[in-house]
Amino acid sequence: MRYISTRATGTPPSEHKRFCEILLEGLAPDGGLYLPETYPQVDAATLTRWRGLAYADLAFEILSLYVDDIPADDLRALCRKTYTEEVFGTAAIVPLTRLEDGLYLQALSNGPTLAFKDMAMQLLGNLFEYELARRGEELNIFGATSGDTGSAAEYAMRGKKGVRVFMTSPDGRMSPFQQAQMFSLLDDNIYNIAITGVFDDCQDLVKAVSGDLDFKRKYKIGTVNSINWARLMAQVVYYFAGYLQSTKSNEERVSFTVPSGNFGNVCAGHVARMMGLPIAQLVVATNENDVLDEFFRTGVYRVRGTADTHETSSPSMDISKASNFERFVFDLLGRDGARTADLFGSQVPRQGRFDLGADPAFAQAASRYGFASGKSTHTDRLATIRDTWQKYGLVVDTHTADGLKVAHEHRVPGVPMLVLETALPIKFAATIVEALGREPERPAKFAGIEALPKKVRVMAPDVQAIKDLIAHACD
Ligand SMILES: *Cc1c(COP(=O)(O)O)cnc(C)c1O
Repeated sequence: MRYISTRATGTPPSEHKRFCEILLEGLAPDGGLYLPETYPQVDAATLTRWRGLAYADLAFEILSLYVDDIPADDLRALCRKTYTEEVFGTAAIVPLTRLEDGLYLQALSNGPTLAFKDMAMQLLGNLFEYELARRGEELNIFGATSGDTGSAAEYAMRGKKGVRVFMTSPDGRMSPFQQAQMFSLLDDNIYNIAITGVFDDCQDLVKAVSGDLDFKRKYKIGTVNSINWARLMAQVVYYFAGYLQSTKSNEERVSFTVPSGNFGNVCAGHVARMMGLPIAQLVVATNENDVLDEFFRTGVYRVRGTADTHETSSPSMDISKASNFERFVFDLLGRDGARTADLFGSQVPRQGRFDLGADPAFAQAASRYGFASGKSTHTDRLATIRDTWQKYGLVVDTHTADGLKVAHEHRVPGVPMLVLETALPIKFAATIVEALGREPERPAKFAGIEALPKKVRVMAPDVQAIKDLIAHACD
């Protein structure tokens, strides 16, 4: 399996890399995102063989189709080390809960940080450790977080050999639970840095440090952001697992509704569908930041400015642009790298938008690729959390509530709808209290977490001071 960039031109495209070459990389050199040259096809016999496999072994089967530069026994061992009942809470890893006939919740949030990002990040931690050891290299992950991504990265990389994590966050702006989750990690290779500023200040620091190419090379600075192909690939597995759990025969089709921000999660659903998984619809659910819903309704992709980006009660979907969306558009345009480069490398930076509304390809987003979309607001979220509690006796988090709200609008008789649960309610307790007048349940392993010793440095948004910190840690 070789990987190409979404902006690659020429046949065969100039970029043509293997899995382990792109594992530790971010964007392709031409600014595009990596995708496999072709999607491996899973036929009915294979799907039947996969029924009944443990999650870790299903992960191995799927990853094997994309990774041919790690020996099979090693890859299987990495999958089995990652997807354990101990780490993910149940033997099923991503169990389904039936809400009513034809409507299911698929739990993706029983990992260490109680959000779906653990599903991919835990694997990434083990892959990074493996590949760095093989190369005899080190990596310093430097990132910015306002919540879920940073903590998922830290819990995946803690104690891993060859990796350090430097994670900036806006001082005092994460929820108390999220702060406690991150700052209570005392591992030597984890550096929590609370920046006296807002999230944008943190992101500016990351840009400034990564933009100093000499520093970046000398100190092996890397990222774990959602455009990493390995993260997306790991997420493909739970679409198969959800399908296999909710069906008895391969004749059946199911739909998924996916709470979406950067289009990472649902892009994995698109890949699963392209591999032949019988998915009817992929329903994209957004919050008030409806960049994606606008596209799937109108064909206009319009990135938002800071003033236009709302702070909502489903904050992990508060995005101004959808950083994985380019992958789907590349497929939608028949894998035309030159056109994709024009849209994302030229039109978006210059005009902040592009419009495919009049392009025949746009109609195929629904007809050929199964996409649909909807939007949910704070009022909808509260109502859905209440309804779900009253009807099913279940408390869902704010992001999952956005998914459920939109899923109800897209149900088709005879086609089961699987809603991906992306976080546990305890992470967003304030909104649960607002909706239900009571605190959400806290998993036992997080009892008293706020009172644990914390390791965090508070720093001004000063590029040189951050560079000194990283350099000193590497000495
Ligand atoms: C990151 C996140 C999302 C959005 O996922 P994308 O891959 O960015 O679309 C949704 N819900 C939760 C809880 C998240 O942490």
